[in-house]
Amino acid sequence: MKVCVIGTGYVGLVTGACLAHAGHDVVCVDNNEAKVQLMKSGQSPIHEPGLPEIMQQAIAAGHLSFTTDIMAGVEHGEVLFIAVGTPPLPDGQSDTRYVEAVARSIGAHLKHGYKVIVNKSTVPIGSGDWVRMLVLDGMAEHGNHKQAEFDIVSNPEFLREGNAVYDTFNPDRIVLGSSSDRAIKVMHALYADIINRKYATDKTSTPVPVVVTDLNSAEMIKYAANAFLAVKISFVNEVANVCDRVGADIKEVSRGIGLDSRIGSKFLQAGIGWGGSCFGKDVSALIHTATDYGYTAELLKACVQVNQHQRNLVVLKLQQTLKILKGKTIGLLGLAFKPDTDDMRDAPSLTLIEQLSRLGAKVKAYDPIVSQSGIRDALSNVIVETDAERLADGCDALVLVTDWEEFRTLDYAKMAKLMTNHVMVDARNFCDREALEAAGFNYVGIGR
Ligand code: NAD
Repeated sequence: MKVCVIGTGYVGLVTGACLAHAGHDVVCVDNNEAKVQLMKSGQSPIHEPGLPEIMQQAIAAGHLSFTTDIMAGVEHGEVLFIAVGTPPLPDGQSDTRYVEAVARSIGAHLKHGYKVIVNKSTVPIGSGDWVRMLVLDGMAEHGNHKQAEFDIVSNPEFLREGNAVYDTFNPDRIVLGSSSDRAIKVMHALYADIINRKYATDKTSTPVPVVVTDLNSAEMIKYAANAFLAVKISFVNEVANVCDRVGADIKEVSRGIGLDSRIGSKFLQAGIGWGGSCFGKDVSALIHTATDYGYTAELLKACVQVNQHQRNLVVLKLQQTLKILKGKTIGLLGLAFKPDTDDMRDAPSLTLIEQLSRLGAKVKAYDPIVSQSGIRDALSNVIVETDAERLADGCDALVLVTDWEEFRTLDYAKMAKLMTNHVMVDARNFCDREALEAAGFNYVGIGR
């Protein structure tokens, strides 16, 4: 099938490359010229395990190409994915200007035949009808409203950065929202091999569940899923804060409640709280939508507050241990918002850098990927080191911010010897407390 994906970020590039790997003819469009040139050469502008390999295979097979020319993309695709960013505005609502620009452009270039326009960007509830209107406006402005037909589908994305390729081939479900049976049939055909688990790593004979809904419900499913996960993390963090006071260990408590099949063990790790490009913006957007429709989303507001508290808590723990932070050197182990990605959007490390520098501390950091990438150049108030031992050198405390697997096996005894004071705030409850104490650290966890 001929596919066009507009916007080649974490979602668009992975979607385009995986569909091309599955044999579809995919043209990816982005308005960032430098990015398009890089991708044409088979390189991925983002760190995502397995992505460069499938990009290169698909390019070599002639199934994947990149362009800045949206007209070429729209003419090529029977299915047109909108996968541009929807970042948060200061008041919490989504900034939908990129979706708007793309929808109008699609309308301007929709000249003939039938196309399915798919919203993969996370967009406020009601955006499916809004995109339809913008496409029609774009068509009318260019006098081509009589020649082409289209339908809108909402197909929200649930991939996890760091596991995006795996998640695309092994989804828990595929959600399709539309009022058009014809468009739903096209989407079923597009995803047929993924639904039948042809590329799945975990082989099972059961097809991937496809949830077909109306447009608004599909859009709501995306927000509700992210809001639920954010609430689950804030819940366990709140319990951890009570554990800290009463002398219980949140790791034991999480294990004890997570084994209950009604609860489940995922997203029950207490720590510095959630971050990244999605949870904060999607929870805020849902709060905003609720307010627009006369409802105050108290639980979601509390979830955001608890999350902010967790970030502040790490600084508080450093103050409780080191007292005055002015003139102290703090080393951050990890910068990315989670392991196996280079994404720094709303990363807890940024809050720590800002707060610690404001308090007069010198902040250093080491991250297995960000330390090697150009992203480090955009960071201020932090000295980015190239390995963990350089990081430890001269530090009064380390804070484990991102639970990168390589942080399990660092030579902590050697690192402790290089430090001025030996504090470790394990903001992910990731390290082995006894091993760290044996290495000479004063270990401080969250809720333990
Ligand atoms: P991103 O910021 O990484 O990428 C967006 C891309 O769109 C950029 O490459 C940008 O250059 C391009 N773009 C912007 N305007 C354009 C235009 N007019 N024409 C062509 N290209 C244009 O965003 P992302 O993280 O991939 O997220 C995309 C959407 O998917 C968002 O709505 C997000 O909420 C949602 N989502 C993201 C994730 C995730 O883990 N990142 C997961 C699920 C859903």
